[in-house]
Formats: sequence, C-alpha cells, structure tokens
Amino acid sequence: MGDVYMLDSALKILNKLNDCGYEAYMVGGFVRDYLLGLESNDIDINTSAKPKEVLEIFKDAELSNKDYGTVVVIKNGYRFEITTFRKDISYKDHRHPDEIVYIDDLNEDLLRRDFTINTICMDKNKNIIDLLDGKKDIKNKIIKTVGDSNIRFEEDALRILRAIRFSTSLGFKLSEDVIDSIKNNKYLLTKISYNRKKEELDKIFTSNNCDLGIKLLLEYGLDNDLELSNLDKVVSNSGLIGIWSTLNVLDKYPFTNNEKDLIKKVNKLLELNDYDSMTLYKYGLYVCSVVCDIKGLDKKKMTELYNSLDIHSRSDLNITSEEIMKILNREPGEYLKGIYDDLVEKVVYKKIDNNYDSLCNYIISNYK
Ligand code: ATP
Ligand code: MG
Repeated sequence: MGDVYMLDSALKILNKLNDCGYEAYMVGGFVRDYLLGLESNDIDINTSAKPKEVLEIFKDAELSNKDYGTVVVIKNGYRFEITTFRKDISYKDHRHPDEIVYIDDLNEDLLRRDFTINTICMDKNKNIIDLLDGKKDIKNKIIKTVGDSNIRFEEDALRILRAIRFSTSLGFKLSEDVIDSIKNNKYLLTKISYNRKKEELDKIFTSNNCDLGIKLLLEYGLDNDLELSNLDKVVSNSGLIGIWSTLNVLDKYPFTNNEKDLIKKVNKLLELNDYDSMTLYKYGLYVCSVVCDIKGLDKKKMTELYNSLDIHSRSDLNITSEEIMKILNREPGEYLKGIYDDLVEKVVYKKIDNNYDSLCNYIISNYK
C-alpha cells in the first residue's frame, strides 16, 4: 500500500539522481492520486538519465522485462519504475512504438503520455510541475488525451481501455473528443494482446464503480471488439471471478490456473439448479457465493447451510486411513478412496455422525 515511507523512498531516489546531475520526477498515477488524496501502490519516476546511467547509480537496479528501457529499483521493499525521458516514434502495430528515442526534455516526455491527468510531475521538494494543465482537468474531473485523441488512440488502442478504466476508477467524465475517438478507433482493439486487455479489464471489473465501467463499454459498443459477447449479461457485483465466468472467454483471454479452476467450477455450478449439502461441500463456499451473486440467490442462507455441514473436507472425518486399514485388516489400496467417498457422502447428508464409533461401525457393517 502507498504510504509516507514509499514517498520518502521515492524522494531519496530523486535526490540521488539530481545529485548525479540528472533531472528526475515522480510522474503519472502516483502524482495524480496524490492530488486526489488517493493511495497509490507504486510510483513511476521519469528522468533525463539514460537506462545505463540509472543502472550504474543504483546497485540493485534491473532492466524491466516488460517495458523496454525502463529500470526497476527496489528500495525499502517498494518497487520504482524509472523511465528515461523519451519520444516514441511511429506505432506500426497500434500498440508498440517502433523505436524509442531518449531525449533531455521533460516537456517532450510528457507529450508522449496518454492523458493530461497522467502528465503531472512532482520533484524532490514535492513541488508540482504541471506543464500540460493536468491539474485543471483533475479539478474538472475530466479525461482528455494529450494531443489529438484520434491520433493517440490510433497509435495505441490500449489507451481506449485506459480511458474507460480511469473514468471508471476515478469517476471522471470522458471529453467529447475522447468519446468520438473511442467510437472511431475501437476496431483497433482486436490488434491489442489479450494480456494487456485483460489487465485493464481486471482493473475496471475490480473497481468500486464497476457498474459504470461496464455501462461505458456497452455504450460505446466495445464488447464486440473485445470479443466479450456476454458483457450485457454480467452482474457487476459478482466479483472478478463471477464476471469472467459470465463472460466465458477461457479460450481467448489469459487466466492464472487458480482463476481457470474457479471459473470452470462456477460455470459448472451455474448449470445445476438444485443446490444441496453435497454441492456446497464439493464446490466450497467461495464458488457457491459467486453463483449466488450471479443468480441473485440468498447468500446468507447458503452460508448458513455451509456452516451447518458436519465436515468441509475429507480430513475433517474423525477417522484416519490407518484406522480404516486396521478395522478391515487390509493393506493400503485404491479401495480406501471408495470408502472415503462413501463416508463423506453419508456424513454430509447426516446419515451417520462424524465420530469414530459411528464411522467404525458403518465400515464394519458395509465393508468387512
Ligand atoms: P496506475 O498505476 O494507477 O494504474 P498509472 O497512470 O500510473 O496508473 P501506469 O500504467 O502505471 O499508469 O503508467 C504510468 C504512466 O505512463 C501513466 O501515468 C502515463 O503517463 C504513461 N502511460 C502508461 N501507459 C501509457 C500508454 N499506453 N500510452 C501513453 N502513456 C502511457
Ligand atoms: Mg503507475
């Protein structure tokens, strides 16, 4: 989380760069959020020092593997991305600049940035440097591109999603120009990697204002270009997993294994119409409550039912495999799984009590 220690650490980095004769500022999200009184998770720094020079100044610094020419410095456990003033030259694939040219001029570095609200800088004395009138747009709660929106979105169509993301998370309006240019250039979203799109969409879907974000995406018809044909069916308060489950795009967008697992379970459970104790036991409370959110079912009742289960996993059974083997006088084997499954079902349906004697008696009468 952002805190004074993070800011202090950033100021030290700025001081160090200044002492070595370079210009350096905090820029972008941190300064924007600072002026809005919001917490930031990280701080971006821009400097006239070239990456090689930054690497020489900070011993543990490393080149970022994501952003070409950006140096990552970890200080006091915080991560700082230090980017050399640069100019991006022609964008062939609507995403990546073909060529980056390092420059000495702060103003020119700010001109390559996406929105005016993201161009405000702060120096080592916490002075605000606002060359492109970003503060005014923050005050008016409006998102404007730096320069011609059409050109900026055509250069890099990801900015379309970023505009919606900032509008959603900050509750800012989009300027008329931005709205028109979104409509003109949205077809270019198909050129952007699913990875980058997912990152922005995740930020929209986890925002407190997620409703608004989804509304904007639909209003400008981005669902089509993003290949999210179920977007109009999404229940905005069903959480990230609930939303992606409804979108049902496991084959297109990238997900972690954990996300994949949960999304598959939610979709499987969505197909069932009857939820009994065994369903709750099998799918677990998290997946069940996501389904409740999507279907508008009573989550409290579901939670009560879950809490009333005698066991929540196999290890909650009051009998061990050693004990079962001893009762049956058998070596370990596949048969144990069958017995376990049977015991779980009987206990979950409250046909037998979860105490050693009942479990033991049941095994003796059915398996011996
Ligand atoms: P947050 O970190 O809160 O998500 P941010 O504004 O810091 O928001 P980052 O992705 O961290 O966003 O980028 C840092 C800065 O780099 C931005 O504020 C902006 O000035 C610039 N930037 C990022 N992505 C782009 C882009 N696609 N086109 C132009 N400038 C960009
Ligand atoms: Mg940032």
